[in-house]
Amino acid sequence: MSGPWLQEGPHEECGVFGIYAPQRDVARLTFFGLYALQHRGQESAGIATSDGRAAYSHKGMGLVAQVFNEDNLRPLQGHLAIGHNRYSTTGISHLRNVQPYLIETIHGPLGLAHNGNLTNALQLRQSLLERGVGLSSTTDSEVITQILAAPAEVWTNGNNKNSTKTETDHWINRLQALMLVAEGAYSLVILTRNAVYATRDPLGLRPLCLGQLSNGGYVVASESCALLTIGAKYLREVKPGEILRLNEQGVTTFVGRVSTRRALCIFEYVYFARPDSILEEQVIHTVRQQMGGQLAREAPAEADIVVGVPDSATPAAIGYSLESGLPYTEGLTKNRYIGRTFIEPDDALRQLGVHLKYNPLTSNLKGKRVVLVDDSIVRGNTAGPMVQLMREGGALEVHVRVSSPPVRHPCFMGVDMATYKQLIAHNLNIEGIRQQIGADTLAYLSLKGMTTAIREALAVAETGHCDACFSGNYPISIPVWLFDENREKPIFEEMWG
Ligand code: 5GP
Ligand code: MG
Repeated sequence: MSGPWLQEGPHEECGVFGIYAPQRDVARLTFFGLYALQHRGQESAGIATSDGRAAYSHKGMGLVAQVFNEDNLRPLQGHLAIGHNRYSTTGISHLRNVQPYLIETIHGPLGLAHNGNLTNALQLRQSLLERGVGLSSTTDSEVITQILAAPAEVWTNGNNKNSTKTETDHWINRLQALMLVAEGAYSLVILTRNAVYATRDPLGLRPLCLGQLSNGGYVVASESCALLTIGAKYLREVKPGEILRLNEQGVTTFVGRVSTRRALCIFEYVYFARPDSILEEQVIHTVRQQMGGQLAREAPAEADIVVGVPDSATPAAIGYSLESGLPYTEGLTKNRYIGRTFIEPDDALRQLGVHLKYNPLTSNLKGKRVVLVDDSIVRGNTAGPMVQLMREGGALEVHVRVSSPPVRHPCFMGVDMATYKQLIAHNLNIEGIRQQIGADTLAYLSLKGMTTAIREALAVAETGHCDACFSGNYPISIPVWLFDENREKPIFEEMWG
């Protein structure tokens, strides 16, 4: 597979969803929840439900709307459900890696949907294998499922430091044991016979929030946009290190593992999250607009118009325009439906490259000096063709402004940010990148400017983000061998063979 339209950006994160809603069609609600989270993963989708007796599931490769239909939703009975959208971060693309995982345990069914990446997955996998546990896939998510399938004592040696009191709920004990041994990023939604559980790693690397349905019932989702979609009210974030249980007693909170600092992935603000979602009490669109405004203050340009690379850079471009006083206009039309095409283009089509996805709006660009705003440059596949499209459309000058800092370090916490080698800002300085993408000028938002723009709401007492891809400061210790700069293949692909 090749071509810039297939390779742009790091890959999306995953989306998870969970619901307890008596008397409701939970499979259908989960379907619409996953639909709202489609931007977080387009490779596969799955739903598992429980009616208090048995569990049911359906999953497959493709978009939510390609995987599900009336016939396969109908058998998904019950009042409890979880769902998952996946873009693989570990494990090769294969149906057997599609989530949710659903297995049978001594306490009945156990379903699991995971967003994130364990940095010690290899060791945990090894200790499972040594204990005689067979694994059917290559993902760290199956490792988590199998850890939860065993009694907590297996992992804690009877010494559960996370537990403040003795829990009668064995799933809580097991989750606490998991959180003792798992390192890295995990937002989990878990289905059992009688409850849905949700938890977030103690750093809160991946998002997860809680909502309430008006006629009873609770929902958890990666992003708040999925709550609104199904008519649920946003209540709050799941706190880092917290475990929530949703069942007929409503929502119960437990300490999973004490959180000493927060490190939400800052790339959620840059690209991943949907603009209407709320993170840390802030609307993503507003934060992106502030990032664009800050960029205009840091890197002004002599120009006539401001254009954003659709769709993700639109809020930042609006912010740049408002701050600079230069008019915002559309300069590119994007085919929103091309997505991940399964049809391999032939050589002649390949020449068309970026035109399969974007065309310039010549009437707006002709004779203009353009500020072209994008939210990020990662591998550098997108910016060059976008500059070229501006010139094809008649732009006199193209000044590229990026509303995040240069991405110089890989992510080991679940964002498939390629390898050092593939990160253009690891290999070239800013002038080198400018030449490569053919821009008249190029400037990035500073790291300080970005954190200023992300004005963390007062409502969030403890703040802090993971900005390792920009700063190289990882919030957890990373095994040295992962840093190999000469690595050719994406780290986790290689890790799992
Ligand atoms: P690059 O082409 O430099 O590798 O990536 C930057 C471009 O990809 C930007 O236009 C940005 O909006 C987009 N982008 C950033 N993150 C992602 C992602 O996770 N998935 C996809 N498909 N695009 C992304
Ligand atoms: Mg984009």
